[in-house]
Amino acid sequence: MKITFIGLGRMGWHMAGHLARQKHTLTVLDSNLTAVSTWLAAHQGQSAPSTQDAVRDAELVITSLPADAALQLVWNEAADSLALGCIWIDHSTTSAEIARQLATTASTRGNFFIDAPVSGGTIGAEKGTLAIMAGADETAWKKVESVLQAYAQQISRIGPPGAGQLTKMSNQICVAGIGQALAEGLAFAEKNGLDLEKVLAVMLKGSSTSWMMENRSIPMIKGEFDFGFSTTLMRKDLALVMDEARRSDVSLPVTGLVTQLLSDVAAMGHAQSDWCSLIQRQRRLTASRKP
Ligand code: NAD
Repeated sequence: MKITFIGLGRMGWHMAGHLARQKHTLTVLDSNLTAVSTWLAAHQGQSAPSTQDAVRDAELVITSLPADAALQLVWNEAADSLALGCIWIDHSTTSAEIARQLATTASTRGNFFIDAPVSGGTIGAEKGTLAIMAGADETAWKKVESVLQAYAQQISRIGPPGAGQLTKMSNQICVAGIGQALAEGLAFAEKNGLDLEKVLAVMLKGSSTSWMMENRSIPMIKGEFDFGFSTTLMRKDLALVMDEARRSDVSLPVTGLVTQLLSDVAAMGHAQSDWCSLIQRQRRLTASRKP
């Protein structure tokens, strides 16, 4: 299949790599030209001088971009050059509103836009074990679903356009609370002088186990945060959640709190760190208190 992949960041780099290994004809693009040249040095594929050139012959366009603004920008650059019938899959986490708008605009032009945000982190992207939740026209979805098996182990069309992003928001609501709970649990064990490795080994087999615990406890304990899903992107996701919650009149007290806590974490210098740096805020508070 002729595929154009736009956005070779922490996630897109690996996803595009899996597609290249599946022998698709791949064109890649990123506003960061170093990302493009290093990706091309490691994989089979080509780039293009402009967004228009990159998408012109594509049967499938895939994007993995930071947020609504970048997606809208790339769409505006590409839309007039899309071939009739071209399907666009967006793996970025965005508002449900932009997903619905682009799906409507695409359908008036003889194209399809699918919102297909992902979960599973950079490790899931690297190992090809992501979970994909999609909002899509059913016919278009059937044509491209199998392509996504290159980097996902769970792929579900949840409903019409926008449903993928709403599902991702549900995921982020759950993970926000779990992240702060993990920070509190580890900081509590640390302050009480427990052997954190032993604590972790037992908790991973107990009722508090989670993806966050499996994949983030060690960096949290070691204080190593230069990887993964940035605090900035998590704050973006939670802002989308809180907007949608206001619209649908849903009370999300814990998510609201974690949204606030992450603004402290960014101000502490962790805006580009993985958002599990949330524990540093907890540590700072805990360290300053004497029992
Ligand atoms: P990232 O910032 O590492 O990557 C985004 C890439 O898009 C960058 O390489 C950037 O240069 C490129 N880009 C930005 N604007 C562009 C434009 N106008 N034209 C071309 N390229 C442009 O982000 P990421 O961590 O890879 O995340 C990508 C998306 O996936 C985000 O929406 C994020 O919320 C979501 N996500 C990330 C993770 C994670 O663990 N990192 C997990 C699940 C979902």
